[in-house]
Amino acid sequence: MKITRISVFQVDLPLEHPYWLSGGRLKFEVLDATIVKIETDEGLTGWGEGTPWGHTYVPAHGPGIRAGIKTMAPFLIGLDPRHVLDVERAMDVSLPGHLYAKSPIDMACWDIAGQAAGLPIADLMGGGSRTPRPIASSVGAKTVEETREVIDRYRQRGYIAHSVKIGGDVDRDIARIRDVERLRNPGDIILYDVNRGWTRQQALRVMSAVEELNVMVEQPCETLDDIAAIAPRHSTPVSVDESLVTLQDATRIARDGIAEVFGIKLNRVGGLTKAARMRDVALAHGIDMFVMATGGTVLADTEALHLAATIPDENCHAVWACQDMITVDIAGGRGARNIDGHLHLPEAPGLGVHPDEEALGDPVAVYS
Ligand code: MG
Repeated sequence: MKITRISVFQVDLPLEHPYWLSGGRLKFEVLDATIVKIETDEGLTGWGEGTPWGHTYVPAHGPGIRAGIKTMAPFLIGLDPRHVLDVERAMDVSLPGHLYAKSPIDMACWDIAGQAAGLPIADLMGGGSRTPRPIASSVGAKTVEETREVIDRYRQRGYIAHSVKIGGDVDRDIARIRDVERLRNPGDIILYDVNRGWTRQQALRVMSAVEELNVMVEQPCETLDDIAAIAPRHSTPVSVDESLVTLQDATRIARDGIAEVFGIKLNRVGGLTKAARMRDVALAHGIDMFVMATGGTVLADTEALHLAATIPDENCHAVWACQDMITVDIAGGRGARNIDGHLHLPEAPGLGVHPDEEALGDPVAVYS
């Protein structure tokens, strides 16, 4: 089987509500999605998506994905898409780095490989759990009262997992954590996501003030060096998200004990092939995981669910999906959808969901 054509589509995904991160430092209103269609000489077609969370969240942006694919495409035409490692090497040789540009290609190849094998991607990767995965809500940086309202709204939709955005103002962060913890239900999974918003000193002030609550904090500071430097000085469990980009990051975090949890975002780490290695590093070192779409449509959410399904139930806290935050649906209700706050693995071979091509408009580029 050979890749014969790669078509690239661009879709704007407006967020239902404007969204702030890192104590209001970063604002988001529309996501720039790149949808990729890979066709083969045997009639199978695979779909991938790369949707960074805007262009200020991490070093990734929509135009960069499309430029990267333009550079890599000549090296991919003619390869067997089922040989995901060959495709990965071709991408890494033709364009070192730029992992976020590679994830939609990797995803479309896994989709084709699954269809060719007659298996959902998770089963092709070695076996997918059918335990529905809780979806983590995303509660933007807000006041104590607004935080309560948003969490209540998610709870009414069945959510038990919440990613509460903090960071920026130490006193406000302490107040919000204490308030959310007062309202915690048994079985709730709550992650306080700082999105790099604290200095080392601010991180230590908040974490010591709430130490007795044993909460989990995500990406407290800008870099792995910052997070490592404060690690011996607090006992709060830490998840690393933005600073987990390469396999070398994963092995460093594991070896040096920098964090207890990985937040694996598939677009950021370069797709399923690379993320699966991080999963294995985590499992080998007693590190639990959140698996996340970086942003985007049900395609990205479903990809995240496939990886989450390959993690033992007890080691996978939740998935983060973006589908309830955007106002565009490119797949007419199909794919892994929110059912009572959980995602259920599709049983169809491959990714298990393809977009409506009419919803994408004309391709912005075609390589053959
Ligand atoms: Mg995060």
